[in-house]
Order: sequence, then C-alpha cells, then structure tokens
Amino acid sequence: MIKSGDEIRQAYLDFFESKGHLVMDSAPLIPKNDPSLLWINAGMAPFKPYFDGSLEPPKKRIATSQKCIRTNDIENVGKTARHHTYFEMLGNFSFGDYFKEEAITWAWEFVTEVLELDQDKLWITIYREDEEAFKIWHDQVGLPEERIVRMGKKENFWQIGTGPCGPCSEIHYDRGVEAGDSKEDVLGGEGDRYLEIWNLVFTQYNYTEAGEYKELPNKNIDTGMGLERVASILQETETNFETDLIKPIIDQVVEMTGIPYQQDQESVTAYRVIADHIRSASVAISDGALPSNEGRGYVIRRLIRRAARYGRKLGFKEPFLYKLVEKTAEIVKGVAPDLKKQLAHVKNVLKSEEESFLKTLEQGLNILEEMLAELEAENKEVLAGKDAFRLYDTYGFPLDLTEDIAAEAGIKVDEDGFEKEMEAQRKRAREAREETSFSSGEVEKLYAEFKAQIEEDNFTGYHSLKEKTKVVGLLKDKQKVEKLGKGENGEIILAKTPFYAESGGQIGDKGVIKSDNFEAEVKDTIKKADVFVHQVEVNRGELKPGSAVEAVVYHNRRLATARHHSATHLLHKALKEVLGEHVNQSGSLVAPDRLRFDFTHFSALTAEEIDEIERKVNQAVMKNYSVQTEIKDIDEAKKMGATALFGEKYGEEVRVVKMGNYSLELCGGTHVDATGDIGAFKIVSESGIAAGVRRIEAVTGEYALDYFNSKLDLLNKTAAKLKTEPDNLLQRVKQLQKEQKNLEKDLEALKQKLAGSKKDDLIDQLQEVEGVNLLTAELDGLDNSALRNLNDQLKDKIDSAVIVLASKGENKVIFVASVTDDLIKKGFKAGDIISKVARIAGGGGGGRPDMAQAGGSKPEKTAEALAEVEKIVREIEG
Ligand code: ATP
Ligand code: MG
Repeated sequence: MIKSGDEIRQAYLDFFESKGHLVMDSAPLIPKNDPSLLWINAGMAPFKPYFDGSLEPPKKRIATSQKCIRTNDIENVGKTARHHTYFEMLGNFSFGDYFKEEAITWAWEFVTEVLELDQDKLWITIYREDEEAFKIWHDQVGLPEERIVRMGKKENFWQIGTGPCGPCSEIHYDRGVEAGDSKEDVLGGEGDRYLEIWNLVFTQYNYTEAGEYKELPNKNIDTGMGLERVASILQETETNFETDLIKPIIDQVVEMTGIPYQQDQESVTAYRVIADHIRSASVAISDGALPSNEGRGYVIRRLIRRAARYGRKLGFKEPFLYKLVEKTAEIVKGVAPDLKKQLAHVKNVLKSEEESFLKTLEQGLNILEEMLAELEAENKEVLAGKDAFRLYDTYGFPLDLTEDIAAEAGIKVDEDGFEKEMEAQRKRAREAREETSFSSGEVEKLYAEFKAQIEEDNFTGYHSLKEKTKVVGLLKDKQKVEKLGKGENGEIILAKTPFYAESGGQIGDKGVIKSDNFEAEVKDTIKKADVFVHQVEVNRGELKPGSAVEAVVYHNRRLATARHHSATHLLHKALKEVLGEHVNQSGSLVAPDRLRFDFTHFSALTAEEIDEIERKVNQAVMKNYSVQTEIKDIDEAKKMGATALFGEKYGEEVRVVKMGNYSLELCGGTHVDATGDIGAFKIVSESGIAAGVRRIEAVTGEYALDYFNSKLDLLNKTAAKLKTEPDNLLQRVKQLQKEQKNLEKDLEALKQKLAGSKKDDLIDQLQEVEGVNLLTAELDGLDNSALRNLNDQLKDKIDSAVIVLASKGENKVIFVASVTDDLIKKGFKAGDIISKVARIAGGGGGGRPDMAQAGGSKPEKTAEALAEVEKIVREIEG
C-alpha cells in the first residue's frame, strides 16, 4: 500500500515511465531564461520552450516531480488545508504526442489502481463545451454522467493572453462533510471538502491576436497533481500539514516551544506558517536565491520575516528558523537533494537574516506603535499608505506584517495608498533605467543594419589571431561615415574578425587593423546588437568601406587574458570543492593583468581556505590538463554536468569548455591550450561586496611572477634597511621591538629622575607676591604626564602656592597649573589662570580650580605667558 510522500512520488514516476515517459529531475526553483517568471510555479514552467516549439524536447513524453513556489497563495497558508508557498507538483507531459484519451485514462488508472483511491469519492470537472473529454470519461472510463461536472471558462479553460491554450479537466476528492459544509464546500468552490488533486490541461488551440481559437497542429498535454494533497488523502490527515511531508517540522517546533500544536487557532496557524515558509525559504536558498530588497530576494526575505514573526507569537526570542533546516532537508531530499549538500550555507543565511530582522523589528515596532498610538488618540481607524510604505521601505516591514500588528490595535491599513507609493517607486526605478538605455537607440539601429551585411559566426579568433578581411562599415561620433583618416577616432566593422569583443566578463581585444597604406590601432572591441565593433585611432592613411585589410590581435595581451580566463574556471571549481556546491558565480572580470571573481558564499574566507583554494588551482595548472572546447546541445551539456551561470541566457547550442576531468563550464571566452600555460596562480585579495557575495582577485602567469617578485623585493629592501637577512627579519623585528620597549622604559625613568632633581631647585625659586607664594617655571622637553607629575610633587611639598609650569616643544607649548586649597578659598582658580596664560601663547584650555592644563601654538611666547601669572595674582590680591 502506497502511503508516504516518497512512495507516492516514486509510484507516479514509475507509472509514467512504464507508459513511455522520460523521467527528468526537478528543475531549480529559479527559472532559467525566463524573465517573465519569478519562480517555477508549475511542472510545465521549465518546459515552456518545448510547448511553444522554440526548443526540441529530449523526448515527446516527459514526467517529473517539480518543486514549486507560489507566492500568490501566501495568504492562504495556514488558513486552508491545501495551500502552500512551496509544494511538489507531479506532472506528465506530451509534446505533440499523445492527447486527451491517454491523459485521461492513465490518470484514472493511476488514481484508482495504483493509489487505490475510493472511486465513490472521486469527482470530475470538465470544460462546458469539451464533448471529447466528456465522452472519454463517460464511455471509456465508464463514469456516470452526474459524476462529470461541466464548468465555465474561468474554472476549466487554461489561457494566458494570446498563444497556446485549451480546456482542462480536474479530478477532485470528496473528503466528506466533516471537512467543511460552508457554501464554498462544493465542487470547484474555495472550501476544503472537495479537494482538487489533479489538473489535466489539454493544450489544443492557439488564441490569435484576432481573437480566434485555431486548432494547433501539435497538441500538448500538461498535467499537475499536488503531492501534499494526495498524501493527505492516503495518510487520512485533516490537512496537508499533518502529512509526513510537513508534520515532522511542526513536531520539532512544538518540541522547542512546549506549546501543543492544536492549542488554539493562533498556535495552529503559527506552526503551519513556520513549517511552510521554512520549506520554501530553505529550498529556494539552496537553489541560489538570497534574501534582498527586490524581486526574488525580497520574496525570500518576506518568507523568512513572516515565519520569524509567527515564531515570536510562539514565544521565540532568539533566531530559531535555521534549526529546522536539517529536518526540512530530510523531508524534501527526494525532490531537492541539493538542500542536504548545502546545509551550512542555508543555515547561515537564515540565521543572519533572522538576526537582522529581529533588530529592525524592534526599531520598526517602536515606530509603528507610535503611529498607532497617535491614530488612537485622534480616534482614527486607518493607517496611511505612506506610513505603511515607510515601514516597508526603511524597516523592511512587509505590508501583511504591518496589517497584522495594526489589526491587533483595531486599525486598518490603507492598502491602495501603499500600492500607490509602491508604484511611484517602481516608476522612478523604471525611468532611471530607461534614461540610460534610450539615448543609444538610434545607433543600435545602425549596427543592426551592418549586422545584415555580415555572415553569422564571423568571429575567427578562437583559432587565429590574424585575419585578412574587408571593411563593412565605418562610424564616427555615432554616425555612419564614408572614410576614416589619419588622426581620427572611430569604429570599424569587419566582414570577419579575430578580435574578441567584451563579453562574459572577458574584456575586448586590442591590436591593429592595417593594409599597405593604412594603419589603425584597435583600442577596444565591443559587441553592439551582436556586431563586433573595433574602436580605433587611425595612425596612417585613409580607410573606406570595402577596403581590404588585415586585422591583427596583440598576441601577448590575448594570451595573458586567456591565462586569467582559464584560471577563473579552475578557481570556480576549486571554490566549489573547498567551500561547497552553493558557490556560484555572480560576476567576473577577466583582464590581461588580473581576474576578479564574485561568488555566493556567506562568510569571509579563512587563511586556510584561501590557501587550499590556491593550492588546488595550482595543482590543476601543474597537471597540465588539455583545454578542449565543443559545441553542444544545451541539455546534453547540462547532462554532462557543465556548470552554467545563474541568470545567464543560453541558446540551444552552447560552447562547453573542458579542462581535463577537472572543470566543465559553459563559456564563450578564449582560453589557453593546456592549463600548464597559466604558469602560476596567486590570490591577492578576498573581500565581501554584498550580503552573501564574496570577491576574489587573483593574478596568473607573469603577473603572478611580478607579484611574487615585488613582495620579495619589499622583503629584501626591508631586511637590508634593518641590516639583516630576509630569513632573519622576523627575529630582527622582534628584537627591535624589545629594544624599543626597554629604551622607552629607561627614558621614562630618566624623566622622572630629572623632574625629581628639578623639584628641589624649583622650590628654591618660590617667590612671594602680595603675600601669595608663586612658582612659575619653564621645563622644556617634558610631556604632559611628566609635567603634571612634577606639578603634583611640588604641590605636596609646598603648603600654600600658585604653581604654573610650562614645557616647550616644536611648534607648541603645554601648561599645567595648580592651586592649593587655602588659596582657592581666596579666589585663585587654576582653570581661570591657565586659560588667560594659554591665550597669550596662542591657545586655550581650562580645568578645575585645583588643577588645570592647556596648550598653545606659539612656544616663543612662553616667557611672556608665564610672566602674566604674577599680574593675575596682583590683580586678585590687589
Ligand atoms: P487551487 O484552486 O486549489 O488553488 P489551482 O487551480 O491553483 O488549485 P493548478 O494551478 O491547477 O491548481 O495546479 C495543479 C495542482 O497543483 C493542483 O491540482 C493542486 O493539487 C496542486 N497545487 C496548486 N497550488 C497549490 C498550492 N498552493 N499548494 C499545494 N498544492 C497546490
Ligand atoms: Mg491556486
């Protein structure tokens, strides 16, 4: 008897394999080559190119279990029995192969014979006008008419804008009145009684711009069955959340809080939301997503924050979500095995995101509470959209969170106002983007014109660095021109070119374009509208469209660039080996003199890790793997295990770069012939550039040599300066540090001694002015503390006096003054005295009545300043 989630999945895939389907792995949650989609949200989503015919499927029948994220169902999570943000969709697909009859009869066979669902509880819906489907269900499957319910277009016709579309038929399971008896608990209703488990879509029409439904020559089948829903039926649980696909996570949280799952409605919702969101967030992160403030990243952030917030309701004070990742990985391993491989990374991301959320939560909560209190005081019931937006924009409060908290105070949030603010922000961002891209529109057209005159694949630079060719077009100042002459800067477009144009992080080639009576230097090569554009300065002669020329790439520079590019591939591989499979390229620069590689990883690399990575790359260099490139079908390339980049658009045919059996990457760049050509590889820096993204800079070949030599040179010069050998340098520095410490100690002792011997001399200099003991003295070369120390000692020895000491240094003078208690009572204040004194020496300062210090910038006025003290005393006493 099939029961567990894993068993259901396996039974499904086995069943369709027996019906001639190719079973494929789930695609990652992040769509490849599909900017219209934030997340893979259905089994068919990764196969869109097979459906619209832009790519040939590996087989006409495919079956998968696909991980899905549906954020539009987020509000339903925990409220209905059947909705998740993350779930698994079992699907069988036909690309112009079998159609309705097989799709329906197989679905029925699977549900009744393999899963052994009770036939009496199954209900079928079809599209009102789909007689073909009705006949198959009624005549072939043998269902009574009343079990086949006809529905409208809204429910049972699949269509998005123009393009392929068609009717669908759904299988529902009646869970009985116990599951719900509201008016929504009818077939096709929103209630939980009639559970939709499987949707069969018959893509048979093309909806045209003219509004016609035209029969498609190749009809497709796309079906989707929710694994969690089927599991809830077979495991006889009240909702999906008690199945073995989710409940173990809830159990773990219950163990942590001690609050029973079903204590009350609030606890049930909290547990369900947490268990649901941890599944979506962890699988998405293991597929390369990272929390951020926009797009996909914001969805992740929102899921984590929402789960964290429900955690607060269950009493969690510290981050806890990361503790659930292991259990989650165990549950989803059948469809998302990568999560297990990346436990540490996923936990790190979750932990630090929850930590930072707790911090902003506190700040934001305070602000929201102030807002709410103000509203309550004014007897208002609605929080303004712009306030909610401020919380969102500055404190990362998702709207629903603000709404939840506001609702607790009986206050609503102006959602329309919030949306308006949001739209205004999006518009600003859009305009900023358009501004930068608009200005070049006209020129783009020009390049496209040239493109039409050039053969496909006119780049010959993978194999040769020289090419005899012809000028197709010339440009100057973004205008087409008929000639380029000596001294002019412009752009040359060639029929064929060996010059690599900047792309994939590798910078463009430099070189010369020349003929017998012409020569121009190519300063850079870029791609515009797929045309290779040589940016030149003409040194000699004149060039016209149609001229025969020779294009020559600077050989050494290209080779140096190739070294860095090939090293980048080795580095990418070594990073994955040392840090883990979660490492993925997020940016790169390949230049002749260095490489820069940005990748996903959560913490700073340790010295040991850097060392190990460097070692692995250099070992691969020494193994001297031959570097081979091949053009392959994209799927074949992926099957071979080639590393593809996130967010990169790949065509049907891709170039695969292979370095022995060490590295395999999709790449259009230029490379060395064998890894030994790289010579040497040295990492020169490692740093963080964004949350979860690190950057490594490295050098190869002669630049690595230069790097080593300059460091050695520095070492040698430093050693020479310190009169020792480089090998003894550390020893020598330690010794010098020790010597310096001793010298400092001696100096301090000497100063104290000197001050002590001065003390007696100074006491002799005591003079009486108007019956007050006065001592002023200049003691050059003493620092602040020595001067203060001396002043203290004098004060100890003399019962009654005003003491002002000065010490001159280069460009400055410092003063310390003290007054004994009996004289303070008479109105003498050290602070007042010193500020007057210091002012004369170009400074200021002050302090307490008994003790004060100050500085001045005119040491030459020291004597004059000290003489002032006597005047001050006379003034006060006189
Ligand atoms: P519903 O009306 O219940 O939201 P749907 O019409 O959105 O379902 P489809 O888009 O047809 O569902 O997806 C196919 C199958 O995937 C559904 O029959 C269901 O079993 C499952 N499914 C869809 N959305 C979810 C979800 N949010 N959580 C769990 N399973 C889902
Ligand atoms: Mg839905």
